[in-house]
Amino acid sequence: MTFFEDIRQAIKGLYSLVIGLRITGRALLTKTETVHYPRQTVDNIDTYHGHIEFVPTDAPDHYSKCIACGTCARNCPSGCITVEKAVLPPEIGEDGKPQKPKKAKYPSLFHLDYNYCSLCGHCVENCPTNALRFSTDVYLAGFSREDFEYDLIERSRKALEDKE
Ligand code: SF4
Ligand code: SF4
Repeated sequence: MTFFEDIRQAIKGLYSLVIGLRITGRALLTKTETVHYPRQTVDNIDTYHGHIEFVPTDAPDHYSKCIACGTCARNCPSGCITVEKAVLPPEIGEDGKPQKPKKAKYPSLFHLDYNYCSLCGHCVENCPTNALRFSTDVYLAGFSREDFEYDLIERSRKALEDKE
């Protein structure tokens, strides 16, 4: 390598350093957009797009507007929703015998496997009763896959209890 080639390489390196320092300096002077979690938390989470949950209602016993039609589960491309209709206790017919049990218009089970959810929103968009929404649960953490499997009925029940 010639002397002039060394000089050229040194100038190139210096130029690259100046460019890098200029970018770093600009970032140091602009407003910080992130926080040092967990020492600090953010409060502007209204637009956060978290896992699905039931829209809160005062419906007794089943805590949602869900009629257990199964549309969300059928439309979920990731197959992460399982819904089961509740079954009503059999009525006694005129002949004194128990009738065939009828299915209720609310779920006995609503399971979400968030491990596979792509947050596509098909379930929210296709729900005929607008029973679903995206949560603002931004501080989710867990140690196993099971920690991200949710019983949405239980979550709604707990949210209602915490509110009272
Ligand atoms: S959440 Fe909506 S789409 Fe899903 S089962 Fe309930 S009513 Fe049907
Ligand atoms: S957001 Fe998409 S992937 Fe997630 S549960 Fe709903 S339909 Fe399934």
